[in-house]
Amino acid sequence: MIVIKFGGTSVGSLDAIRAVQGILESYQSKENEQLFVVCSAFNGVTNQLVEMLTYTEAGDTAYLPILSELENRHVEAVRCLMSPLKQGEVLAEVKVLFNELEDLLAGIALLKEVTPKSSDLILSFGERLSSIIVFEYLKAHLKDAGLLDPRKIICCHNGANRGEVRMDISLANAQKAKGSLKSLTVCPGFIAADDKGDIVTLGRGGSDYTAALFANFLDASRLEIWSDVDGLMTADPRLVPNAHVLHDISYEEALELSHFGAKVIYPPSIQPAMRKEVPIIIRNTFNVDNPGTTIVNQFEDQTTIRGISSIKDITLLNLRGGGMVGIPRFSYRLFETLSAEHINVVMITQASSEHTICVGIESKNRLKAEEAINKAFEIEISQGKISPVEVEEHLAILALVGNNMKDQVGVSGQMFSTLGRN
Ligand code: ASP
Ligand code: MG
Repeated sequence: MIVIKFGGTSVGSLDAIRAVQGILESYQSKENEQLFVVCSAFNGVTNQLVEMLTYTEAGDTAYLPILSELENRHVEAVRCLMSPLKQGEVLAEVKVLFNELEDLLAGIALLKEVTPKSSDLILSFGERLSSIIVFEYLKAHLKDAGLLDPRKIICCHNGANRGEVRMDISLANAQKAKGSLKSLTVCPGFIAADDKGDIVTLGRGGSDYTAALFANFLDASRLEIWSDVDGLMTADPRLVPNAHVLHDISYEEALELSHFGAKVIYPPSIQPAMRKEVPIIIRNTFNVDNPGTTIVNQFEDQTTIRGISSIKDITLLNLRGGGMVGIPRFSYRLFETLSAEHINVVMITQASSEHTICVGIESKNRLKAEEAINKAFEIEISQGKISPVEVEEHLAILALVGNNMKDQVGVSGQMFSTLGRN
């Protein structure tokens, strides 16, 4: 089994869908394995669904032109890709989905309220639409194709940890379905269901995660992620002109690089593949001759530093004071406070004197974090045991990534002297 995921731009135009068909056709003739194809929404569609939700929440009918633009785009795709004989049937399926979407949006606009459940439901339409169209097109050109509804396989928690996948149940569902899969299965990414069968989504960029889950559940021989870039790069090419594509990289290095900036793969997607040592290959639909980046456990390259990445707009929060030395609950309370406010911590340091704890967060959470922390430590601050939290803005995090660094002397020295010199 080969799991192959096509991102939004890889299915976002007629030429791209035709290119996808070409890639899969050559796999069907070359490879002696079943193919499992995960597809994203057409590029930009999920963003438009989010935009419509924002309008409906305000009771604003400005969502209507976006809705008709979306409908035209999908109808056009069917008209151009399918034979006149087939069009009617597929257009009917697309129309049913648009009627449902229209009713839901009208309902939300009346209520002026978006809940996690209604939001997931609306966002699911991108993949539900694209997968029908891509499937029907592939079925007409390739051997033995079937469409799989991921809601029957991927089961998620509801409530506080909504969107978190229930691995045991999902694995059992996948194993049950495995025997009846066709030589080519098409499956929409990004969507799953809760235990009642209601739609849950897997987070923005979540189609990669869908593909990685299936690669794990179905013991795939490899997982391919096709998008519009050649692979993972040594650095952000917009900032570093001589950045280049990495041919091989380890799972851990890829995880670091994907967390810190490079949006090539959705970071949670690496774990499920890594657990079963399924190689992940990043490929470019628009440059099929490029071999892309292969992510595996071990490879030959002994280069110390594989890449440099960065995150902008970071704020540092510094909690400082003699009153926390040797008292175990301080850091617990700090992180509990941030977690209660749903603030993601990007980086943590603590001085060995335990006199300061320093956390890096995204700058958009700055005010919320500052207020919450000062409130949580109100008593200690008023008694002078610690100072009000210090805030430093407009920072960035730079990360040097490389597994081999840990056995090397002098890497950090070289980095700091370079920073110093510049
Ligand atoms: N369509 C979803 C998004 O744009 C999922 C994905 O494409 O991976 O976030
Ligand atoms: Mg994506």
